Amino acid sequence: MRSITGIFFLLVMTCSAGAENLLGLPDILTQGGLYVGKVGPGTTVWFGDRRLKLTPDGHFVFGLKAHQGAMVKFRLVDKGGKSQLQRFMVRKQQYDVQRIDGLPQKMVTPPKKILARIAADASRVRRARTTDSPRQDFRETFIWPVRGRISGNFGNYRILNGTPKSPHGGMDIAAPKGTIIVAPLSGVVTMVSDLYYTGNTVIIDHGFGVSTVFAHMDRVLVKAGQRVRQGQKIGTVGMTGRATGPHLHFGLNWYQERLNPALLLGKQEKKQ
Ligand SMILES: [Zn+2]
Repeated sequence: MRSITGIFFLLVMTCSAGAENLLGLPDILTQGGLYVGKVGPGTTVWFGDRRLKLTPDGHFVFGLKAHQGAMVKFRLVDKGGKSQLQRFMVRKQQYDVQRIDGLPQKMVTPPKKILARIAADASRVRRARTTDSPRQDFRETFIWPVRGRISGNFGNYRILNGTPKSPHGGMDIAAPKGTIIVAPLSGVVTMVSDLYYTGNTVIIDHGFGVSTVFAHMDRVLVKAGQRVRQGQKIGTVGMTGRATGPHLHFGLNWYQERLNPALLLGKQEKKQ
């Protein structure tokens, strides 16, 4: 037993970047997580083959795929060109199967004449998520955009009216129609659009590729290009697009990668 414990300890030691974590990150990361780290002046950081963008004081941000492998590697290169490897273990997430029935069938298997519109919607969203601004709003602590029961988790395998569909790209928060939605972080609105699946949809840029998405809104209270402060009203809960009841679909992205916003939200404050 002693040797098994010893080997496990050694593994943990080498996987969690040894004794010294030079990136200011938690020792163990989680699939679908968004992380902000910091390095010393003049250091460059590579995440796989991708060089991470740094703020003037050395902050960086990145996201892990929903099905990221068990370990991620970073390479740090200091001012003198000295290179150092840092490894982090990635905690596996459990994604459940969610069956949703009672959707209008045209929202599950759309008629042919709608396909061009759906493709155009997707490219608008992709374009908004390509935004790569120098804003640093991603360093704020997230607040809940709306309070309510979580009616759908990130990463769920979804079966809609009996047909398997792509995994859920965000979290669903159920709330009565008309409930105010606030910006979870400050930022700039990069898209306001009425899309086939997600209804009235807003995307906000928070800098360095980090953006949030708000879907199925009843009313939208912001315009594209508008600056918003954290906590500012951006719209109200509705059920526009593909929805069986009023809820907010809340998404988080790092460029094109969809991430789990629930990992960044604290406990939901009690309703008054
Ligand atoms: Zn959703």
